Amino acid sequence: MAKKIVKLHDKYFKKYISSKNIAKTIKKLAKNVEADLPKGEVPIFIGILNGSFMFAADFIRNYKGNCEISFVKLASYEGTKSVGKVKKLVGINESLKGRIVIILEDIIDTGNTLEEIYEMFREHHVKQLKIVTLFFKPDVFRKGLPIDYIGKSIPDKFIVGYGLDYDNLGRNLKDIYQLTSIKMKNIVLFGPPGAGKGTQATKLKEKYNLVHISTGDVFRYNIKNKTELGILAKGFMDKGDLVPDEVTINMLKDEVNKNFNAQGFIFDGFPRTESQAKALDEFLAEKGEKINGMVALEVDEDLLVTRLLKRGETSGRPDDQDEVKIRNRFNEYETKTAILKDYFEAQNKYYGVDGVGSIDEITARLSIVFDKL
Ligand code: AMP
Repeated sequence: MAKKIVKLHDKYFKKYISSKNIAKTIKKLAKNVEADLPKGEVPIFIGILNGSFMFAADFIRNYKGNCEISFVKLASYEGTKSVGKVKKLVGINESLKGRIVIILEDIIDTGNTLEEIYEMFREHHVKQLKIVTLFFKPDVFRKGLPIDYIGKSIPDKFIVGYGLDYDNLGRNLKDIYQLTSIKMKNIVLFGPPGAGKGTQATKLKEKYNLVHISTGDVFRYNIKNKTELGILAKGFMDKGDLVPDEVTINMLKDEVNKNFNAQGFIFDGFPRTESQAKALDEFLAEKGEKINGMVALEVDEDLLVTRLLKRGETSGRPDDQDEVKIRNRFNEYETKTAILKDYFEAQNKYYGVDGVGSIDEITARLSIVFDKL
């Protein structure tokens, strides 16, 4: 199944016209073009690169009669004289004299390119020049030039896919996608150690198609692999202390950058200090994104100690196995992290959720908030 939403560079696009629908449109176009040509005529189709390469390929596959296919590319050059930008046709080698030439365009919007095409083919003394476009934007078309065949008229919204690009990306998508204003869903999953953040994040990331970043997991991975970061973090973690902000923030930024084509993030175990929270806000703002909300699992501390000791029997985590270390983690939480509730509350972004119950019950409670964000 093709994705409903794709991200290209900094923008989101939602699925708009399916490949099936495109195929149907092209089949009809090819049939109509063929029906209008004199019997026995061998037209020469000319695809306008780059955008029309897929359309041209599918179009001629649907065209039953004999035909030729060629491509041209319109390149813009900075003129040396006052004429400014000059467009030049690249790639017409064959003689078009006396032929029926049929242009295959992926999309016609303002008509500027179309105007160039008419202009350039004028010199070639063709018998007839016809224009076929897969997509047409009537609302922005400003020229009185004829377009012989239109696959689909669409509103003036930016589209990509099926050969069309956004800054060179997206041409390989089978379907057509339309620009959408959707932003990332970035959620801080909050709560004291043992509140169930990791368990819930695993379920929610699937459900909402988000990338889960657990700073604790990243540190543990680095410790296991004896990286520089791991060696640095180990001493702090083993005692149940927080790893210094600078180290943690840089690591977090790396993780976000690595996954920036995601639809959003669940931050689990980050931020844990006010300066981490500020750094995260700034970092996301630079990218035109933000935290949508802090969703906190609220669980009583005594219940948490019991849970953590139990987890320590199987997790292999040194910081889960000793009540002194666990209490220290709570102390760190109370003194440095709990204040983040106020930080997010001040931005109207704090959502407390009862963290006691079955895993599924809690996922359901969290989902109500996630849906809203
Ligand atoms: P966790 O798996 O979230 O319970 O984290 C385990 C340990 O990793 C913590 O006790 C800290 O030592 C370290 N750690 C995880 N996240 C952070 C953070 N945001 N800031 C500082 N230290 C962290």
